Amino acid sequence: MRALLPKTWEEIPGYLGQMTEKSRVVGGGTDLIIKMRLGALDPDALCYLGYVKELKEIREEGENLVIGAYATMTEIETDPRVRERFPALMDAASDVGSLQIRNNGTIGGNIGNASPAGDLLPVLYLYDAVLEIMGPEGVRRAGIDEVLAGPGRLHLAHNEAIVRIILPPCSLHTSFVKLGSRKKVTISRIGVALGIAMDGGAVKEMRLIVGAIGLKPVRFYEAEDFIRGKALNELNIMDIAEILSRYIKEHVAKEFDRDYKVYAAKGAVMDAFARLRRGGEE
Ligand SMILES: Cc1cc2nc3c(=O)[nH]c(=O)nc-3n(C[C@H](O)[C@H](O)[C@H](O)COP(=O)(O)OP(=O)(O)OC[C@H]3O[C@@H](n4cnc5c(N)ncnc54)[C@H](O)[C@@H]3O)c2cc1C
Repeated sequence: MRALLPKTWEEIPGYLGQMTEKSRVVGGGTDLIIKMRLGALDPDALCYLGYVKELKEIREEGENLVIGAYATMTEIETDPRVRERFPALMDAASDVGSLQIRNNGTIGGNIGNASPAGDLLPVLYLYDAVLEIMGPEGVRRAGIDEVLAGPGRLHLAHNEAIVRIILPPCSLHTSFVKLGSRKKVTISRIGVALGIAMDGGAVKEMRLIVGAIGLKPVRFYEAEDFIRGKALNELNIMDIAEILSRYIKEHVAKEFDRDYKVYAAKGAVMDAFARLRRGGEE
């Protein structure tokens, strides 16, 4: 098996151009290496981009926050700009796996996994993340939803890699709650990403995206329309939780923990709102 190891941004396209359909990009390897050890995957080459400094950096570019695809969960969780401007991303990164997984697992790998239970995915939807993708011909950009194809699948060519994640400014107060987050090494059964903007006592805008209840994160436009212009009181929050529970009842197959999720979704929604308030915003 070949190792493709570019050291600079300029070298990346040349190395990606050497990849075949059987080659893989490797991030921290927390998932890929396990699959290789189990014999589920036998790549002819691994391309590792973590020596390129731009892919490790978290930096502000104009109004955007740009996160290198090789930033680890720990680096994201502890970055003061993420904490201040994108707290739901901090929450999601801090909820991933164990300390060892967070120290090695990257944001690029979390997207690359495209797991329905991937913790960062609903949050990247919440913040309208744009992915910078490099291939042999250079760089292109695409929204997270355009790239995520379904479980384990991305709309990327075999010789393309995610190099940076761009977060545009967000004016919402945001939070993320993962059900089961107290048991650190659980796979997310529900991840609720929430954003709110208030106008006086009424909700001006809400964004609600839920992970691990479908093939991709699900955005709840019905709940967003329902709450617009209304007060953020317990009764209305309960109604939002009810919309989520009803969706799960209708769309999630029984063997995917449906009954548990229907019940637990309510608590996760309440927690997401409570976490927003604890930030002291509204
Ligand atoms: C015990 C355990 C617990 C876990 N808990 C969680 C959890 O709570 N929440 C969660 O979300 N995940 C969890 N995971 C899954 C995984 O560890 C994380 O998703 C992690 O972020 C993957 O990152 P990585 O850098 O290790 O990816 P890798 O294993 O290196 O790669 C994963 C996939 O992404 C592709 N890839 C990697 N980097 C790129 C890139 N730059 N561009 C394109 N494709 C790329 C690879 O080809 C591969 O298909 C867990 C895994 C384990 C083993």
